[in-house]
Amino acid sequence: MLKPVFMTLLFLFFFTATAMAARPAIVQDVRYSYNNGTVRLVVDVTDYVDFREIYVENPSRLVVDIQNATLSSKVKKELPIENPTAKRVRVGQFDKTTVRVVIETIAEIKTFILEGGPAGYRLVIDVIGTPTVSGAPPSHVETKPSTVTKPSNSEEHEALQKERERQERLEKERKAKEEKERQEKLEKERKEQLEKERERKAKEERERKAKEEKERQEKLEKERKAKAEKERKAKEERERKAKEEKEREHKNTHSTHSTTTYPSTHNPHSSEVDKDIESLTTLKGKIIAIDPGHGGNDAGAIGPSGVMEKTVTLNVALELEKLLKAEGATVIMTRRTDKTVSPAGAKASAIEELQARCDIANKAKADIFISIHADSFTNPTARGTTGYYYSQTEGQSAIRLADCIRKALCEQIKTPSRGTKPCNFYVVRNTDMAATLIELAFISNPEEESIMNSVEGVLKCAQGIFDGIEDYFG
Ligand SMILES: [Zn+2]
Repeated sequence: MLKPVFMTLLFLFFFTATAMAARPAIVQDVRYSYNNGTVRLVVDVTDYVDFREIYVENPSRLVVDIQNATLSSKVKKELPIENPTAKRVRVGQFDKTTVRVVIETIAEIKTFILEGGPAGYRLVIDVIGTPTVSGAPPSHVETKPSTVTKPSNSEEHEALQKERERQERLEKERKAKEEKERQEKLEKERKEQLEKERERKAKEERERKAKEEKERQEKLEKERKAKAEKERKAKEERERKAKEEKEREHKNTHSTHSTTTYPSTHNPHSSEVDKDIESLTTLKGKIIAIDPGHGGNDAGAIGPSGVMEKTVTLNVALELEKLLKAEGATVIMTRRTDKTVSPAGAKASAIEELQARCDIANKAKADIFISIHADSFTNPTARGTTGYYYSQTEGQSAIRLADCIRKALCEQIKTPSRGTKPCNFYVVRNTDMAATLIELAFISNPEEESIMNSVEGVLKCAQGIFDGIEDYFG
């Protein structure tokens, strides 16, 4: 049976129209007709209207509320229908904006709006049904989901219904709000989780990078220490050898001849022949042209630590000059300072600059010409000493000069020999005497660069060339 709170309620339909007229529609007429067991009520209205239907019990009746409508005074308030399906029909202005039609019936009702008719629109209420015993509901009414018991007046019913709707709406809104809050909370939690995860990953990444950097620094430090240790040992070894050599030299060197303060590793004389030294020396009266490669605006090759070829060649040439003069040779230097040789200076072309060097040697009618250079290559491991002579040279003198100097140099500075080779270099091609261009070592090789940049290395280079010259004239 029925729950008491809904006693007055049968059931409720809403029909919501798509649009609602702003001004009230006027109900101009309510009429009815019979057709094959169906009673058709027609409500003539001037505009499209919204309406709602409410079933109310005891007596069973359908209430149709026409929204936003006013009732014309011409309309009859009661229609005397006498039919088993529909008994009485009452029409009235329920409130300011609602016209109410009440049909006492137990039959099935179909309500709908049609366009047309004398007022413009028709609200049609079809009361369909087989005639039944009055007061006994037909079977299809019983199947409807609402319940019926005690009577109630329509105002009470309306109020209850409205309250129920209000409660339902509030409940719906409350649930929707709760659901929204729940979703927002979940979303917030999800975002917080993501943010935490992101921070965790970023921290891990930072730590990983810091660790890598630390390891890298440690490795570099280790390598640096190993290198310093290696260099220290190499230096010790060099110093030890130099000391040994000095001691040996000191025993061998005659004391009266040399004006140089530098030691000589090659000296054929002994103290017994000191008094005859000038007549014995092989270099007395020889004119020797020395050409320190590059100079001035032309630095030549530059080593990995910045040592310039032009500096090395000049340092070696100046030391060589001392050695040669000490042995009575006449030395012709193409330059004795850091400058270009051509009077045109920096403006001189490469050929003009090289020709100026040849001119000096040719004019002096030098016996030999030695152009001093340092080698360079893109691969820093390239190393060694090379002697060059002009490829078209006739006779053996130039080849022999190049070979003697290259050989003696290798002995002095302990570089691997790269051989004595023919070439087409300008200065050896355009000098009239036996000429050689000597590549001391590779300035592009860090080790050889440091040899050529040291006082000791420069002395040894000079000594090597000097030894070669003596060998050549000997
Ligand atoms: Zn050079």
